[in-house]
Amino acid sequence: MTVPATADLVISGGTVIDGTGAPRLKADVAVTDDRIVAVGDLSATQAGRRVDAAGKVVAPGFVDVHTHDDRALLSMPGMDMKVSQGVTSVVVGNCGISLAPLKITKRPPPPLDLLGDESWWTFDSFGEFLDTVDQAPAAVNAAFLVGHSTLRVGVMDRLDRAAGADEIKVMRGKLEASLEAGACGLSTGLWYKPSEKAPTQEIIEIARALKAHGGRYVTHMRDEADGVMDSLEETFLIGREAGVPVVVSHHKVTGKNNWGRSTETLKLFERYRKTQKIGLDVYPYHASSTVLKPDSIEISKRVLVTWSVPHPEYAGRDLDDLAREFGCDKFEAAERLQPAGAIYFSMDEADVQRILSYPDSMIGSDGLPHDEKPHPRLWGTFPRILGHYARDLGLFSLEEGVRKMTSLSAAEFGLVDRGEIAEGKFADICVFDPETVKDLSTFEAGATPAAGIAHVFVNGREVWNTDGSTGNRPGRALRA
Ligand SMILES: [Zn+2]
Repeated sequence: MTVPATADLVISGGTVIDGTGAPRLKADVAVTDDRIVAVGDLSATQAGRRVDAAGKVVAPGFVDVHTHDDRALLSMPGMDMKVSQGVTSVVVGNCGISLAPLKITKRPPPPLDLLGDESWWTFDSFGEFLDTVDQAPAAVNAAFLVGHSTLRVGVMDRLDRAAGADEIKVMRGKLEASLEAGACGLSTGLWYKPSEKAPTQEIIEIARALKAHGGRYVTHMRDEADGVMDSLEETFLIGREAGVPVVVSHHKVTGKNNWGRSTETLKLFERYRKTQKIGLDVYPYHASSTVLKPDSIEISKRVLVTWSVPHPEYAGRDLDDLAREFGCDKFEAAERLQPAGAIYFSMDEADVQRILSYPDSMIGSDGLPHDEKPHPRLWGTFPRILGHYARDLGLFSLEEGVRKMTSLSAAEFGLVDRGEIAEGKFADICVFDPETVKDLSTFEAGATPAAGIAHVFVNGREVWNTDGSTGNRPGRALRA
């Protein structure tokens, strides 16, 4: 290392966990403009600003690989729910739901409405969406997936059937144009109504556009309950047929009769990973959240309402209690709340920990930024990995926890020069206190910032510190 004579910023006296999984080491980190220019003893460097990181860890900013932040980038560009956790890049457009390319005049069908009502669906082309993000940048960087359900809603007159050959051609064309504009892959949400009638072959035909652009196939699978093994087989088959890497989103096994089956699913990952590229992400909670859906109510021991269009006053309430007050069963109660969203307690903590411990699982929040009473994962996911799972439970080392949220994620999603503290990399950096870092968001109060995050830098500029948001918005649209 050559010690630079000057730098814009030196973060000094901290312990560097570089994101690769390598053991921590004492080192200063120098930043000039948007890049890390040196890592080592930089006491002789003349710094424009010197940040004291004594007693703290200096890590790469975290990559939230599973988000629904497409609209949040535009409507809440400070992105406090992410930068307060040390997140510096997000992957949007997951679960088949992307804000582009789709222009509509009436409320989109669930789950597309998780991103907002018709007033937000105004981007006919993906390029237009990315240009808008460029013109009004957010605090974080973002990489973009194209949603299969979004394509279906834009192309098909009705969604309760397979797409015809002409429709597939149009969808593949739209995917191609989006990839050319900079999207990094295709996502599906085959469990949801707009896409549940799409046969495997439909996805394969559309996904064939990915290979030439180096894109990936990312999926909220058809079934995460009784049929989880078949769904994994389907996912891996699509990857092989299209000749592209796949990512299984928010991997889990739901429903009490499936508890423990992550031993089976992870074995299947192992088997197929020998011959094809397969990744997975997971969030660190044993409750899920999405739109209000009867099949999820069915397999959950508890359901919490997160939002309701006709009854906003019931956000945060237990569905069982509402059913009792209404004098009906919970399915009818749910019907009265539609359109609506909910949190579902339907997983086993042992499965969650087994999947978190799997060496190649990435961390993604699946946070829902527009929910009235959001699942705590929106504000808590990354500090929960560092504090609860690494430090308190010792599920893995802090180095390993950081790797699952940085270099591994950047590699899987093709984020160039990010996810690592090293000379020449982008200066996306999180400085945190390893003793006090902790998620504070709960199922009762989901929108609570975490403790212990000291400084967060995106492309060399500070976006969050112990005083809160700095107001800077240095994020970029990361075009693949
Ligand atoms: Zn999903």
